[in-house]
Amino acid sequence: MQVTVVGSGYVGTTLAACLADAGHDVTAVDIDSDVVAAINDGHAAIHEPGLDDLLAEHVGDRLRATTEYESVPDADVTFLAIGTPSNDDGSIDLGGLTAAAEMTGEALAGAGDVASSPNPDDRHLVVVKSTITPPGVAQVREALLAGAGDAADRVELATNPEFLREGSAVDDFQHPDKLVFGTESEWATEALESLYEPLVAATDSDVPVIRTDPETAVMIKYANNAFLAAKISLVNDLGNICKQFGIDAYEVMDAIGLDDRIGAKFLRSGVGWGGSCFPKDVDAIRAAARKAGYEPALLDAAVAVNDGQPERMLELLDSHVDVAGERVAVLGLAFKPGTDDIRNSRAIPIIEGLQARGAEVVGYDPVATDNMRERFTDIAYADSAAAALEGASATLVVTDWDEFAALDDAFDAMNDAATGDPVVIDGRRIIERRDGLTYEGLTW
Ligand code: NAD
Repeated sequence: MQVTVVGSGYVGTTLAACLADAGHDVTAVDIDSDVVAAINDGHAAIHEPGLDDLLAEHVGDRLRATTEYESVPDADVTFLAIGTPSNDDGSIDLGGLTAAAEMTGEALAGAGDVASSPNPDDRHLVVVKSTITPPGVAQVREALLAGAGDAADRVELATNPEFLREGSAVDDFQHPDKLVFGTESEWATEALESLYEPLVAATDSDVPVIRTDPETAVMIKYANNAFLAAKISLVNDLGNICKQFGIDAYEVMDAIGLDDRIGAKFLRSGVGWGGSCFPKDVDAIRAAARKAGYEPALLDAAVAVNDGQPERMLELLDSHVDVAGERVAVLGLAFKPGTDDIRNSRAIPIIEGLQARGAEVVGYDPVATDNMRERFTDIAYADSAAAALEGASATLVVTDWDEFAALDDAFDAMNDAATGDPVVIDGRRIIERRDGLTYEGLTW
């Protein structure tokens, strides 16, 4: 099929590369010419395992990138994978997405007649991949149809929320646990089925497909993320209680995970969730619920627990050492391992808290340093974890990159002159306790 993917960020680039890999002919559109140039050069503007390999294989063949919308009229399907950031009140800003929807509509209208489309019945399907709330669907449709003008009656909007995780985006996209098609016609459902057919055929297992209306489809995405975020906050709340009693929360969670109503996954307590999805999505659905007249008490509490975890980490640090004037290493700047994304990383409130205490902060991350350099210009950055530890009186472990589990003797280079044993506060349970180190786990 001919596919246009508008927006080439984490989701759009992964979608474009994976659809090309599945045999479709894909045009990726982005307003950022650097992003477009990078893709045409065979590499992504973002760090995502496996993505560059797919781009290198398919760019110039089944995949190309452009800043123009001219491929839209000839496409069977156009995806919109534009960012939907938070407004100050937590609701999502649909400005970028509605602008892209309108431009997509205009591209279709500019084609004069959608008859240039290879669809036998001259219809064009525009699919929202971005995460939007149920009331947002009507807003995006309105923008699309306004742009399409006379062609509006042959344009249809569908939603197909994306569940991929940064750090394993390609694998998640190629092996989804479900596909959710939110459509208003059998024709649109069939178009999405045809599109995903080669991808589903390549997986070992049957992929459940949920066929529903556009609003229910996007609500499934919010319910999914809100449930997971709340699960971690519950685990962190219980973990904080364990810590008060001197109990190892991981021993407790391993045991409750044996109950199949709870499940063994997502039971690791620590410094909390971040990234571009959980905070934004939980905020957006809370704001949308409030606007509709419902107070989401449990989701409010999930956010409050999450917001408190970095401060708990800093309080544990305070209980061992006054870091004013001391070098303090922050290991891990990305919001989770496997990505360079620092959006809502727990490292941000941790660094702010250390700065407020007068510490000399040195940060290290295998891939996210450049991004954090733009956020904090006034801290030092090390080239390796071992270099960050050198001379540090305390270390805070914020992201569970595997390499932090193998630091071993690097801790010997920490500074124990001023404060007694150097202090390690582990927010992710990745460092082994060792002699000569004051070690505190956040919930163990
Ligand atoms: P992103 O910010 O990384 O990428 C968005 C891209 O869209 C940017 O490259 C930007 O230049 C481009 N863009 C903006 N306006 C445009 C326009 N008018 N025309 C063409 N391009 C335009 O965003 P993302 O992380 O890929 O997220 C996209 C959507 O998918 C969001 O709604 C997000 O919530 C959702 N989502 C994200 C993830 C994730 O892990 N990042 C997972 C699932 C769903």
